[in-house]
Amino acid sequence: MYDVIVIGGGPSGLMAAIGAAENKAKVLLIDKGNKLGRKLAISGGGRCNVTNRLPIDEIIRHIPGNGRFLYGAFSVFNNEDIISFFENLGIELKEEDHGRMFPVSNRAQSVVDALLNQLEQLRVEIKVNSPVKEILFKDHQTTGIVLETGEKISSKSVVVASGGKSVPQTGSTGDGFPWAIAAGHTISELFPTEVPVTSSENFIKDKTLQGLSLRDVALSVLNPKGKPLITHQMDMIFTHFGISGPAVLRCSQFVVKAQKKWKLDEVTLALDALPERRKEDLYNELIKVIKDESKKTVKNALKGMLPERYLLFLLERSGIDPGAICSSISSEKLRTFVEMCKQFSFRVNGTLPLEKAFVTGGGVSVKEIEPKTMASKLMPGLYFCGEVLDIYGYTGGYNITSALVTGRLAGTNAALSSN
Ligand SMILES: Cc1cc2nc3c(=O)[nH]c(=O)nc-3n(C[C@H](O)[C@H](O)[C@H](O)COP(=O)(O)OP(=O)(O)OC[C@H]3O[C@@H](n4cnc5c(N)ncnc54)[C@H](O)[C@@H]3O)c2cc1C
Repeated sequence: MYDVIVIGGGPSGLMAAIGAAENKAKVLLIDKGNKLGRKLAISGGGRCNVTNRLPIDEIIRHIPGNGRFLYGAFSVFNNEDIISFFENLGIELKEEDHGRMFPVSNRAQSVVDALLNQLEQLRVEIKVNSPVKEILFKDHQTTGIVLETGEKISSKSVVVASGGKSVPQTGSTGDGFPWAIAAGHTISELFPTEVPVTSSENFIKDKTLQGLSLRDVALSVLNPKGKPLITHQMDMIFTHFGISGPAVLRCSQFVVKAQKKWKLDEVTLALDALPERRKEDLYNELIKVIKDESKKTVKNALKGMLPERYLLFLLERSGIDPGAICSSISSEKLRTFVEMCKQFSFRVNGTLPLEKAFVTGGGVSVKEIEPKTMASKLMPGLYFCGEVLDIYGYTGGYNITSALVTGRLAGTNAALSSN
């Protein structure tokens, strides 16, 4: 008989097992794959974006999916605690742009290895290649689990850390959701977040801009009345199916939500390629350039203001021949061009599927979870942590932070409740 069984060896499950074992529980960690921490090992481009050093309010703001539910958890264990935790395990971290924290080694595997080492130190029992089939409940109490092989294992409590449904090759195939339902929980509808966006605009189908990266642009998702629902200023890239890159990943969940809310086949995005410049200033600046360089071609006079392919694309869309000489350009066309620079609108029709998303939106409703312990409010002895919960953040270490924090609380409290 174990005190605590943890299902899933991602960041939330590894941390839950450590938290439980530190509180003297007899712990079994089970994973269906042959290795633990597979998704963690490919996160942050293989460097593992362990957490983020922004202030807590900022962290919460970067978790648009129920981030506020985490205020209680952060009061017990937060991003600074994660940093100290890893430093105590001998993993030195460094801060990069936007507060993102990475191991100095730049190797995600070093983070995974440190966690595995700690599990060994704490004598946590580990079973890999062992898919869990269901969780056992008796007389309104969690009593253990059954493996796919039919083997039953008893425990006083069970921590579900089985992840979402994205990138299923890593083992996250959504197995935890039916278990939660069996315990009486509600699952908020699953959807892809942090995912590339698709478009059937002709310029995408024709691959006119394929491979073009734009730096530090402002991308907005518009509601049906043309007002921005959200704007993100970051980099983006045009692909053969649509758009991708950090600004797009962050906007993607708003595309999905707008489609659902207003039953839309297509959603309009607006791209501001020069967000630091005010429209009127830009117009006056261009009028001056065109006047000063009146004998040059437009293309040459405006060289450098935008990446060349995007400049030519917008000039053509504004009805300006890039090879025409500046003196021939009407102020009306120049205005249209400035409009295009500041707000190039185009339609998108969805995203790549959930399997291709970095993160799963939706999951076990947080209304049914105790915010400071991660205990189920519905089933004694049952705990949830990580991406199986309806908590989803932007990439940048926010999801891993949520997984580690909720994992820590789930494991610790599962152990305390078993004493
Ligand atoms: C390519 C990529 C890059 C990412 N980069 C970032 C980033 O930079 N920053 C960030 O914050 N987030 C990032 N994420 C998201 C982040 O990795 C996840 O949010 C996080 O791993 C979720 O942790 P978890 O412990 O909840 O679940 P997972 O890491 O998904 O782990 C779940 C575990 O449960 C096991 N399991 C599932 N079902 C069963 C079963 N029936 N029986 C036994 N075991 C089972 C699985 O095998 C798996 O090991 C990235 C994701 C991907 C795919």
